[in-house]
Amino acid sequence: MSHAAPKVGFVSLGCPKALVDSERILTQLRAEGYAVVPSYDDADVVVVNTCGFIDAAVEESLDAIGEAMAENGKVVVTGCLGARAHLIKERFPDVLSISGPQDYQSVMKAVHAQVPPKHDPFLDLLPPQGIKLTPRHYAYLKISEGCNHRCTFCIIPSMRGDLVSRPVDEVLIEAEKLVRSGVRELLVVSQDTSAYGVDTRYASREWRGEKYQTRMRDLCRGLGELDAWTRLHYVYPYPHVDDIVPLMAEGKVLPYLDIPMQHSNPRILKLMKRPASGEKNLDRIQAWRASCPEITLRSTFIVGFPGETEAEFEELLQFLQAAQLDRVGAFAYSPVAGAKANDLPDPVPEDLKQDRLERFMKTQAKISKKRLKAKVGTLQQVLIDEVGPSVATGRSRADAPEIDGKVYVSAAVAGTRLKPGDRVMVRIDRSDQHDLFGTLAES
Ligand code: SF4
Repeated sequence: MSHAAPKVGFVSLGCPKALVDSERILTQLRAEGYAVVPSYDDADVVVVNTCGFIDAAVEESLDAIGEAMAENGKVVVTGCLGARAHLIKERFPDVLSISGPQDYQSVMKAVHAQVPPKHDPFLDLLPPQGIKLTPRHYAYLKISEGCNHRCTFCIIPSMRGDLVSRPVDEVLIEAEKLVRSGVRELLVVSQDTSAYGVDTRYASREWRGEKYQTRMRDLCRGLGELDAWTRLHYVYPYPHVDDIVPLMAEGKVLPYLDIPMQHSNPRILKLMKRPASGEKNLDRIQAWRASCPEITLRSTFIVGFPGETEAEFEELLQFLQAAQLDRVGAFAYSPVAGAKANDLPDPVPEDLKQDRLERFMKTQAKISKKRLKAKVGTLQQVLIDEVGPSVATGRSRADAPEIDGKVYVSAAVAGTRLKPGDRVMVRIDRSDQHDLFGTLAES
Protein backbone atom coordinates (compact mmCIF):
# COMPACT_ATOMS: atom_id res chain seq x y z
CA MET A 1 0.00 0.00 0.00
CA SER A 2 1.17 3.54 -0.72
CA HIS A 3 1.57 6.35 1.81
CA ALA A 4 0.89 6.03 5.49
CA ALA A 5 -2.72 6.28 6.63
CA PRO A 6 -3.74 9.41 8.55
CA LYS A 7 -3.54 8.75 12.26
CA VAL A 8 -6.16 9.38 14.92
CA GLY A 9 -5.61 9.12 18.66
CA PHE A 10 -8.68 8.06 20.63
CA VAL A 11 -9.55 8.44 24.29
CA SER A 12 -12.78 6.82 25.49
CA LEU A 13 -14.25 7.67 28.90
CA GLY A 14 -17.52 6.93 30.61
CA CYS A 15 -20.22 4.34 30.84
CA PRO A 16 -21.04 1.35 28.60
CA LYS A 17 -23.34 3.56 26.59
CA ALA A 18 -20.48 5.93 25.78
CA LEU A 19 -18.40 2.89 24.86
CA VAL A 20 -20.93 2.04 22.19
CA ASP A 21 -20.54 5.55 20.76
CA SER A 22 -16.77 5.13 20.75
CA GLU A 23 -17.07 1.84 18.92
CA ARG A 24 -19.23 3.45 16.23
CA ILE A 25 -16.76 6.29 15.70
CA LEU A 26 -13.78 3.92 15.64
CA THR A 27 -15.54 1.69 13.14
CA GLN A 28 -16.23 4.67 10.88
CA LEU A 29 -12.64 5.92 11.18
CA ARG A 30 -11.28 2.51 10.26
CA ALA A 31 -13.78 2.20 7.41
CA GLU A 32 -12.43 5.44 5.99
CA GLY A 33 -8.85 4.25 6.19
CA TYR A 34 -7.68 6.08 9.30
CA ALA A 35 -5.23 4.33 11.55
CA VAL A 36 -6.07 4.48 15.25
CA VAL A 37 -2.85 5.01 17.21
CA PRO A 38 -2.15 4.56 20.90
CA SER A 39 0.06 7.62 21.43
CA TYR A 40 -0.56 11.34 21.26
CA ASP A 41 2.61 12.42 19.47
CA ASP A 42 1.98 10.10 16.54
CA ALA A 43 -1.56 11.28 15.96
CA ASP A 44 -2.68 13.84 13.38
CA VAL A 45 -5.73 14.51 15.53
CA VAL A 46 -7.07 13.21 18.85
CA VAL A 47 -10.73 12.41 19.58
CA VAL A 48 -11.79 12.50 23.23
CA ASN A 49 -15.16 10.86 24.00
CA THR A 50 -16.17 12.37 27.33
CA CYS A 51 -18.52 11.57 30.17
CA GLY A 52 -20.41 14.21 32.12
CA PHE A 53 -22.63 12.22 34.44
CA ILE A 54 -21.18 13.12 37.84
CA ASP A 55 -18.75 15.80 38.87
CA ALA A 56 -15.87 13.33 39.14
CA ALA A 57 -16.49 12.27 35.53
CA VAL A 58 -16.55 15.90 34.42
CA GLU A 59 -13.15 16.44 36.01
CA GLU A 60 -11.77 13.25 34.51
CA SER A 61 -13.01 14.33 31.09
CA LEU A 62 -11.55 17.83 31.42
CA ASP A 63 -8.24 16.31 32.51
CA ALA A 64 -8.24 14.03 29.50
CA ILE A 65 -8.91 16.97 27.18
CA GLY A 66 -6.15 18.96 28.93
CA GLU A 67 -3.69 16.12 28.48
CA ALA A 68 -4.56 15.69 24.80
CA MET A 69 -4.25 19.47 24.27
CA ALA A 70 -0.85 19.57 25.97
CA GLU A 71 0.53 16.49 24.23
CA ASN A 72 -0.97 16.94 20.80
CA GLY A 73 -2.94 20.19 20.49
CA LYS A 74 -5.40 19.03 17.80
CA VAL A 75 -8.35 17.78 19.77
CA VAL A 76 -11.94 16.90 18.84
CA VAL A 77 -14.24 16.56 21.84
CA THR A 78 -17.48 14.57 21.81
CA GLY A 79 -19.78 12.72 24.24
CA CYS A 80 -21.85 13.72 27.24
CA LEU A 81 -19.67 16.58 28.40
CA GLY A 82 -19.84 17.97 24.88
CA ALA A 83 -23.47 18.80 25.64
CA ARG A 84 -22.13 21.35 28.12
CA ALA A 85 -19.75 22.98 25.66
CA HIS A 86 -19.23 26.12 27.76
CA LEU A 87 -17.39 24.10 30.41
CA ILE A 88 -14.91 22.94 27.81
CA LYS A 89 -14.58 26.24 25.94
CA GLU A 90 -13.84 28.14 29.12
CA ARG A 91 -10.80 25.98 29.83
CA PHE A 92 -9.75 24.97 26.36
CA PRO A 93 -10.78 27.63 23.85
CA ASP A 94 -8.61 26.02 21.14
CA VAL A 95 -10.24 22.60 20.83
CA LEU A 96 -11.14 21.94 17.19
CA SER A 97 -14.74 20.97 17.71
CA ILE A 98 -17.22 20.01 20.42
CA SER A 99 -20.22 17.76 19.90
CA GLY A 100 -22.67 15.95 22.15
CA PRO A 101 -23.35 12.22 22.56
CA GLN A 102 -24.17 10.11 19.46
CA ASP A 103 -23.16 12.92 17.15
CA TYR A 104 -20.91 10.73 15.02
CA GLN A 105 -21.26 12.98 12.00
CA SER A 106 -19.86 16.04 13.76
CA VAL A 107 -16.89 14.01 14.94
CA MET A 108 -16.19 12.71 11.46
CA LYS A 109 -16.59 16.20 9.98
CA ALA A 110 -14.09 17.64 12.44
CA VAL A 111 -11.61 14.82 11.78
CA HIS A 112 -11.99 15.29 8.00
CA ALA A 113 -11.35 19.01 8.36
CA GLN A 114 -8.13 18.39 10.25
CA VAL A 115 -6.85 15.46 8.23
CA PRO A 116 -8.74 14.28 5.15
CA PRO A 117 -9.43 10.58 4.75
CA LYS A 118 -7.50 8.46 2.29
CA HIS A 119 -9.04 8.12 -1.08
CA ASP A 120 -10.55 4.63 -1.04
CA PRO A 121 -12.45 3.46 1.96
CA PHE A 122 -10.73 0.30 3.19
CA LEU A 123 -13.96 -1.36 4.04
CA ASP A 124 -12.29 -4.71 3.81
CA LEU A 125 -10.05 -3.76 6.72
CA LEU A 126 -13.03 -4.06 9.01
CA PRO A 127 -13.73 -7.22 10.87
CA PRO A 128 -17.38 -8.17 10.28
CA GLN A 129 -18.50 -6.96 13.70
CA GLY A 130 -16.84 -3.53 13.47
CA ILE A 131 -14.31 -2.47 16.08
CA LYS A 132 -15.27 -3.66 19.54
CA LEU A 133 -13.65 -2.19 22.61
CA THR A 134 -14.93 -5.08 24.71
CA PRO A 135 -13.49 -8.58 24.29
CA ARG A 136 -14.77 -10.22 21.17
CA HIS A 137 -17.10 -12.64 22.89
CA TYR A 138 -19.34 -10.09 24.54
CA ALA A 139 -20.77 -6.84 23.22
CA TYR A 140 -23.04 -4.06 24.37
CA LEU A 141 -26.19 -3.61 22.35
CA LYS A 142 -27.60 -0.11 22.68
CA ILE A 143 -31.33 -0.13 21.99
CA SER A 144 -32.23 3.51 22.62
CA GLU A 145 -30.93 6.93 23.55
CA GLY A 146 -32.24 9.43 26.06
CA CYS A 147 -34.86 9.09 28.76
CA ASN A 148 -38.44 10.23 29.43
CA HIS A 149 -38.03 10.27 33.22
CA ARG A 150 -36.93 13.28 35.18
CA CYS A 151 -35.25 11.81 38.25
CA THR A 152 -34.19 14.75 40.37
CA PHE A 153 -30.62 13.55 40.90
CA CYS A 154 -29.94 12.97 37.22
CA ILE A 155 -29.05 15.27 34.35
CA ILE A 156 -29.02 12.66 31.61
CA PRO A 157 -32.34 13.76 30.07
CA SER A 158 -31.07 17.33 29.80
CA MET A 159 -27.89 16.08 28.14
CA ARG A 160 -29.27 13.27 26.01
CA GLY A 161 -32.87 14.37 25.52
CA ASP A 162 -36.05 12.29 25.55
CA LEU A 163 -36.20 8.62 24.68
CA VAL A 164 -35.44 7.68 21.08
CA SER A 165 -35.65 3.94 20.43
CA ARG A 166 -33.92 2.15 17.59
CA PRO A 167 -36.39 0.13 15.49
CA VAL A 168 -36.46 -3.49 16.60
CA ASP A 169 -35.36 -4.92 13.25
CA GLU A 170 -32.28 -2.68 13.24
CA VAL A 171 -31.31 -3.89 16.71
CA LEU A 172 -31.94 -7.54 15.83
CA ILE A 173 -29.91 -7.28 12.63
CA GLU A 174 -27.01 -5.77 14.58
CA ALA A 175 -27.30 -8.52 17.19
CA GLU A 176 -27.35 -11.16 14.47
CA LYS A 177 -24.17 -9.73 12.94
CA LEU A 178 -22.46 -9.66 16.31
CA VAL A 179 -23.32 -13.28 17.00
CA ARG A 180 -22.16 -14.29 13.53
CA SER A 181 -18.80 -12.68 14.25
CA GLY A 182 -18.28 -14.65 17.44
CA VAL A 183 -20.09 -12.68 20.16
CA ARG A 184 -21.50 -15.08 22.76
CA GLU A 185 -23.13 -12.59 25.09
CA LEU A 186 -25.21 -9.51 24.27
CA LEU A 187 -25.58 -6.89 26.96
CA VAL A 188 -28.69 -4.85 26.30
CA VAL A 189 -28.18 -1.26 27.47
CA SER A 190 -30.13 2.00 27.39
CA GLN A 191 -31.16 4.54 30.02
CA ASP A 192 -34.45 2.73 30.59
CA THR A 193 -34.71 -0.63 28.87
CA SER A 194 -38.28 -1.23 30.00
CA ALA A 195 -39.45 1.90 28.18
CA TYR A 196 -38.07 0.62 24.89
CA GLY A 197 -40.32 1.51 21.97
CA VAL A 198 -42.79 3.79 23.81
CA ASP A 199 -41.65 6.71 21.64
CA THR A 200 -42.27 4.72 18.43
CA ARG A 201 -45.71 3.59 19.65
CA TYR A 202 -44.24 0.10 19.54
CA ALA A 203 -43.71 0.25 15.76
CA SER A 204 -44.06 -3.10 14.01
CA ARG A 205 -41.16 -4.36 11.92
CA GLU A 206 -40.20 -7.56 10.22
CA TRP A 207 -37.21 -9.75 10.99
CA ARG A 208 -36.54 -13.21 9.57
CA GLY A 209 -39.96 -13.10 7.97
CA GLU A 210 -41.83 -12.54 11.22
CA LYS A 211 -43.50 -9.51 12.78
CA TYR A 212 -41.85 -7.96 15.82
CA GLN A 213 -42.96 -4.87 17.68
CA THR A 214 -40.44 -2.33 18.91
CA ARG A 215 -40.99 -3.28 22.55
CA MET A 216 -39.09 -5.12 25.21
CA ARG A 217 -40.91 -8.43 25.00
CA ASP A 218 -40.57 -8.80 21.24
CA LEU A 219 -36.95 -7.67 21.36
CA CYS A 220 -36.24 -10.40 23.91
CA ARG A 221 -38.16 -12.93 21.85
CA GLY A 222 -36.00 -12.08 18.82
CA LEU A 223 -32.73 -12.08 20.75
CA GLY A 224 -33.74 -15.44 22.19
CA GLU A 225 -33.53 -16.88 18.66
CA LEU A 226 -29.80 -16.19 18.54
CA ASP A 227 -27.13 -18.46 19.92
CA ALA A 228 -25.87 -16.05 22.56
CA TRP A 229 -26.65 -15.05 26.09
CA THR A 230 -28.85 -11.95 26.35
CA ARG A 231 -28.46 -9.92 29.51
CA LEU A 232 -30.82 -7.07 30.33
CA HIS A 233 -29.53 -3.95 32.04
CA TYR A 234 -31.31 -0.89 33.44
CA VAL A 235 -34.78 -2.35 33.61
CA TYR A 236 -37.43 -0.56 35.70
CA PRO A 237 -39.98 -2.69 37.50
CA TYR A 238 -42.99 -1.76 35.39
CA PRO A 239 -45.78 -4.33 35.22
CA HIS A 240 -44.90 -5.37 31.66
CA VAL A 241 -41.48 -6.55 32.88
CA ASP A 242 -43.45 -9.49 34.31
CA ASP A 243 -43.91 -10.68 30.69
CA ILE A 244 -40.15 -11.08 30.28
CA VAL A 245 -39.72 -13.42 33.23
CA PRO A 246 -41.36 -16.41 31.46
CA LEU A 247 -38.84 -15.91 28.62
CA MET A 248 -36.14 -16.20 31.26
CA ALA A 249 -37.66 -19.37 32.64
CA GLU A 250 -37.70 -20.77 29.08
CA GLY A 251 -34.00 -19.94 28.64
CA LYS A 252 -34.59 -17.37 25.86
CA VAL A 253 -32.85 -14.58 27.77
CA LEU A 254 -30.65 -14.88 30.83
CA PRO A 255 -32.50 -15.07 34.15
CA TYR A 256 -30.91 -11.81 35.20
CA LEU A 257 -32.43 -8.41 35.83
CA ASP A 258 -30.49 -5.26 36.57
CA ILE A 259 -33.06 -2.94 38.16
CA PRO A 260 -31.81 0.36 39.54
CA MET A 261 -34.20 0.81 42.49
CA GLN A 262 -32.32 3.65 44.24
CA HIS A 263 -34.45 3.48 47.41
CA SER A 264 -37.39 1.71 49.00
CA ASN A 265 -39.06 4.46 50.98
CA PRO A 266 -42.03 5.96 49.11
CA ARG A 267 -41.32 9.53 50.31
CA ILE A 268 -37.70 9.41 49.18
CA LEU A 269 -38.67 7.76 45.89
CA LYS A 270 -41.13 10.59 45.38
CA LEU A 271 -38.45 13.20 46.12
CA MET A 272 -36.28 11.39 43.60
CA LYS A 273 -39.23 11.35 41.18
CA ARG A 274 -38.80 7.62 40.66
CA PRO A 275 -41.65 5.46 39.42
CA ALA A 276 -42.92 2.51 41.57
CA SER A 277 -42.98 2.27 45.36
CA GLY A 278 -40.88 -0.03 47.52
CA GLU A 279 -43.76 -2.20 48.59
CA LYS A 280 -44.73 -3.02 45.04
CA ASN A 281 -41.14 -3.85 44.22
CA LEU A 282 -41.14 -6.48 46.94
CA ASP A 283 -44.32 -8.04 45.55
CA ARG A 284 -42.85 -8.04 42.08
CA ILE A 285 -39.64 -9.68 43.24
CA GLN A 286 -41.59 -12.44 44.93
CA ALA A 287 -43.68 -13.03 41.84
CA TRP A 288 -40.60 -13.15 39.59
CA ARG A 289 -38.91 -15.65 41.85
CA ALA A 290 -42.04 -17.77 41.91
CA SER A 291 -42.10 -18.06 38.11
CA CYS A 292 -38.32 -18.18 37.60
CA PRO A 293 -36.61 -19.39 40.80
CA GLU A 294 -33.11 -19.05 39.39
CA ILE A 295 -33.47 -15.35 38.53
CA THR A 296 -30.55 -13.16 39.61
CA LEU A 297 -31.47 -9.67 40.74
CA ARG A 298 -29.02 -6.80 40.74
CA SER A 299 -29.81 -3.27 41.82
CA THR A 300 -28.26 0.05 42.75
CA PHE A 301 -29.22 2.37 45.59
CA ILE A 302 -28.46 5.86 46.77
CA VAL A 303 -28.05 6.46 50.49
CA GLY A 304 -28.06 9.85 52.16
CA PHE A 305 -30.38 11.47 49.62
CA PRO A 306 -31.37 14.99 50.79
CA GLY A 307 -33.93 14.73 53.59
CA GLU A 308 -33.39 10.98 54.24
CA THR A 309 -34.16 10.38 57.92
CA GLU A 310 -32.69 7.66 60.10
CA ALA A 311 -36.07 5.88 60.05
CA GLU A 312 -36.21 6.00 56.27
CA PHE A 313 -32.70 4.65 56.03
CA GLU A 314 -33.57 1.84 58.47
CA GLU A 315 -36.52 1.03 56.26
CA LEU A 316 -34.12 0.65 53.34
CA LEU A 317 -32.03 -1.83 55.34
CA GLN A 318 -35.18 -3.80 56.12
CA PHE A 319 -36.04 -3.77 52.44
CA LEU A 320 -32.64 -5.28 51.67
CA GLN A 321 -33.31 -8.04 54.18
CA ALA A 322 -36.71 -8.76 52.72
CA ALA A 323 -35.66 -8.56 49.07
CA GLN A 324 -32.51 -10.72 49.38
CA LEU A 325 -31.05 -9.31 46.17
CA ASP A 326 -28.06 -11.08 44.71
CA ARG A 327 -25.91 -8.12 43.74
CA VAL A 328 -26.13 -4.56 44.90
CA GLY A 329 -24.20 -1.39 44.17
CA ALA A 330 -24.61 1.67 46.39
CA PHE A 331 -23.53 5.29 46.33
CA ALA A 332 -23.62 7.99 48.94
CA TYR A 333 -25.63 10.80 47.37
CA SER A 334 -23.41 13.33 45.69
CA PRO A 335 -24.82 16.43 44.08
CA VAL A 336 -24.48 16.62 40.31
CA ALA A 337 -24.18 20.13 38.88
CA GLY A 338 -27.51 21.09 37.33
CA ALA A 339 -29.61 18.42 39.10
CA LYS A 340 -32.91 19.44 40.72
CA ALA A 341 -32.17 17.44 43.88
CA ASN A 342 -29.53 20.02 44.80
CA ASP A 343 -32.33 22.42 45.77
CA LEU A 344 -33.98 19.96 48.20
CA PRO A 345 -33.88 20.86 51.91
CA ASP A 346 -32.09 18.99 54.71
CA PRO A 347 -28.98 17.63 53.01
CA VAL A 348 -27.48 14.71 54.95
CA PRO A 349 -24.06 15.59 56.40
CA GLU A 350 -21.12 13.93 54.66
CA ASP A 351 -19.98 11.77 57.59
CA LEU A 352 -23.51 10.50 58.15
CA LYS A 353 -23.80 9.62 54.46
CA GLN A 354 -20.58 7.63 54.66
CA ASP A 355 -21.74 5.93 57.84
CA ARG A 356 -25.01 4.91 56.19
CA LEU A 357 -23.16 3.68 53.13
CA GLU A 358 -21.02 1.46 55.30
CA ARG A 359 -24.00 0.04 57.19
CA PHE A 360 -25.79 -0.53 53.92
CA MET A 361 -22.84 -2.35 52.36
CA LYS A 362 -22.32 -4.48 55.46
CA THR A 363 -25.94 -5.58 55.46
CA GLN A 364 -25.87 -6.45 51.78
CA ALA A 365 -22.46 -8.14 51.91
CA LYS A 366 -23.88 -10.78 54.24
CA ILE A 367 -26.84 -11.36 51.93
CA SER A 368 -24.71 -11.59 48.77
CA LYS A 369 -22.31 -13.94 50.49
CA LYS A 370 -25.11 -16.20 51.65
CA ARG A 371 -26.69 -16.27 48.20
CA LEU A 372 -23.38 -17.17 46.59
CA LYS A 373 -22.77 -19.88 49.16
CA ALA A 374 -26.06 -21.50 48.21
CA LYS A 375 -24.50 -22.21 44.80
CA VAL A 376 -21.75 -24.40 46.21
CA GLY A 377 -22.29 -27.94 44.98
CA THR A 378 -24.36 -26.88 41.96
CA LEU A 379 -23.50 -27.08 38.29
CA GLN A 380 -23.31 -23.72 36.54
CA GLN A 381 -22.98 -22.78 32.93
CA VAL A 382 -19.92 -20.53 32.60
CA LEU A 383 -18.75 -18.31 29.76
CA ILE A 384 -14.95 -18.23 29.74
CA ASP A 385 -13.37 -14.75 29.61
CA GLU A 386 -9.67 -15.47 30.14
CA VAL A 387 -7.52 -18.56 30.21
CA GLY A 388 -4.41 -18.75 32.38
CA PRO A 389 -1.95 -21.60 32.78
CA SER A 390 -3.90 -23.36 35.51
CA VAL A 391 -7.00 -21.29 36.14
CA ALA A 392 -9.55 -19.98 33.69
CA THR A 393 -11.77 -17.05 34.60
CA GLY A 394 -15.32 -16.79 33.47
CA ARG A 395 -18.80 -15.76 34.48
CA SER A 396 -21.95 -17.65 35.23
CA ARG A 397 -25.33 -16.55 33.95
CA ALA A 398 -25.66 -14.56 37.18
CA ASP A 399 -22.57 -12.40 36.54
CA ALA A 400 -22.44 -9.42 34.21
CA PRO A 401 -18.97 -8.38 33.06
CA GLU A 402 -17.25 -5.52 34.93
CA ILE A 403 -19.86 -5.19 37.68
CA ASP A 404 -20.54 -8.64 39.13
CA GLY A 405 -18.36 -11.49 40.37
CA LYS A 406 -16.37 -14.11 38.52
CA VAL A 407 -16.08 -17.84 38.41
CA TYR A 408 -12.55 -19.20 38.72
CA VAL A 409 -12.31 -22.53 37.02
CA SER A 410 -9.40 -24.68 37.99
CA ALA A 411 -8.56 -27.80 36.07
CA ALA A 412 -5.27 -29.24 34.99
CA VAL A 413 -6.59 -29.13 31.47
CA ALA A 414 -8.06 -25.64 31.71
CA GLY A 415 -5.13 -24.01 30.00
CA THR A 416 -5.06 -26.33 27.06
CA ARG A 417 -8.68 -27.06 26.42
CA LEU A 418 -10.44 -23.79 27.02
CA LYS A 419 -10.49 -20.57 25.11
CA PRO A 420 -12.24 -17.24 25.74
CA GLY A 421 -15.82 -17.38 24.54
CA ASP A 422 -16.28 -21.08 25.38
CA ARG A 423 -19.37 -22.07 27.32
CA VAL A 424 -18.71 -24.88 29.78
CA MET A 425 -20.33 -26.56 32.76
CA VAL A 426 -18.59 -25.98 36.06
CA ARG A 427 -19.14 -27.64 39.41
CA ILE A 428 -18.97 -25.00 42.14
CA ASP A 429 -16.66 -26.04 44.98
CA ARG A 430 -16.57 -22.92 47.11
CA SER A 431 -17.49 -19.24 47.28
CA ASP A 432 -16.37 -16.06 48.94
CA GLN A 433 -18.09 -12.69 49.19
CA HIS A 434 -17.95 -11.92 45.46
CA ASP A 435 -16.75 -14.88 43.47
CA LEU A 436 -17.21 -18.58 42.88
CA PHE A 437 -14.53 -21.25 42.51
CA GLY A 438 -15.08 -24.50 40.72
CA THR A 439 -13.84 -27.30 38.50
CA LEU A 440 -14.72 -28.23 34.97
CA ALA A 441 -17.49 -30.78 34.90
CA GLU A 442 -17.45 -33.56 32.35
CA SER A 443 -19.56 -32.48 29.44
S1 SF4 B 1 -34.39 6.96 34.60
FE1 SF4 B 1 -33.85 8.66 35.92
S2 SF4 B 1 -31.71 8.21 36.49
FE2 SF4 B 1 -32.15 6.99 34.69
S3 SF4 B 1 -31.51 8.30 32.97
FE3 SF4 B 1 -33.70 8.61 33.26
S4 SF4 B 1 -33.77 10.43 34.55
FE4 SF4 B 1 -31.68 9.61 34.73
